[in-house]
Amino acid sequence: MGQRFNTRTVHFQSKDVARNMSKAQPIYQTSAFTFKDLEDMESFYQGEKEFLYSRFGNPNTEDLGKGVAAIEEAEDGVATSSGMSAILAGILAVVKPGEHIVASEDLYGGTYQLLAVELHNLGIEVSFLSFEDIEEVKSAILPTTKLIYTESVTNPLLRVENLKMVKVIADEFDLITMIDNTFATPYLLQPTTFGADLVIHSATKYIGGHSDVTAGVLVGKKELIEIARGKVVSLGCNLSPFEAWLACRGLKTLSIRMERQSRNAFALANALKTNGGVSKVYYPQDLSAKGNGAMVSIELDQTVNVEHFFKSLGWIKIAPTLAGVETTVSYPIRTSHRTIPDVTREKLGITEGLVRISVGIEDELDIIETFENAIAKAKG
Ligand code: PLP
Repeated sequence: MGQRFNTRTVHFQSKDVARNMSKAQPIYQTSAFTFKDLEDMESFYQGEKEFLYSRFGNPNTEDLGKGVAAIEEAEDGVATSSGMSAILAGILAVVKPGEHIVASEDLYGGTYQLLAVELHNLGIEVSFLSFEDIEEVKSAILPTTKLIYTESVTNPLLRVENLKMVKVIADEFDLITMIDNTFATPYLLQPTTFGADLVIHSATKYIGGHSDVTAGVLVGKKELIEIARGKVVSLGCNLSPFEAWLACRGLKTLSIRMERQSRNAFALANALKTNGGVSKVYYPQDLSAKGNGAMVSIELDQTVNVEHFFKSLGWIKIAPTLAGVETTVSYPIRTSHRTIPDVTREKLGITEGLVRISVGIEDELDIIETFENAIAKAKG
């Protein structure tokens, strides 16, 4: 029997560590590798040697790609310079100009921008739909449709995607599925076990876990990752060895961070449900037996002054990111979802009162009390 999740998460680098007899993985901070003669160099092209030039591959970036693949139960993986470039490389591995994508309308703003603007400029069309209605999704599929794209837990409203439905539609119409699993993390959910072909992560978030690295990972079916790896090399959206090393170090503690952060988030969501200054709490249900994630979004009641609330949070800082060990807050309407058209934002429920909370590893009561105090101070 293979290793279980937590063991795999810590020991994904064992091959390289053994080779170097070093307990911590070294950083291969090099742009290229050297060879003793031409025959030795030829051995790279024959597939006998792994590394030639770091844009093509490097032990640290390979660790991250293969490490996330191992814990996502995917066949292969490639690390990229950011979550955005992982999305781009994955899409370009599947879709060509003249072809079409069906995507959830409920996506991270940057992804929406990439799909709606950049891919459109490359001749790839995207239909954005509510994935809550299976018939609506099916009716958007065209003869040119190649890919279904969605997030396993959506940003910022934390809707848990129906991955079984996505797979049923993909099978019926012979489409590839690509899932952004950034918010759920492989600790809570593995989309490949629902039949997803490609899974992406902004490793900037929970995989890195310490807000000190920008990175992405794409994992999935071997033949698709091979094509995507070619795109990463030609587009130059490879990850640097040091950033990969940081993300790998973060990955080793993913399980314990997610366990604590999910527990804190559950407690905060419950406390805010009965708070008179909060009109709605968004927190996933039934995401996984291990927990429901570490993100909580709240809709402040109209009696709460939003500016005043943000000023009253003390040690909880405003940050346009998530998933670090520190609790932070963001304001989607002015950051991550700024570029989404007003009508779509209104339809989705991304309002003036919506606050997204990334819950950290601090003491649960400190987090709850700080939010309760800030809401009380800002309430008119
Ligand atoms: N996917 C999701 C769900 C995100 O929240 C983000 C960034 O916030 C991205 C992708 C893009 O990741 P990156 O900033 O690492 O490019």
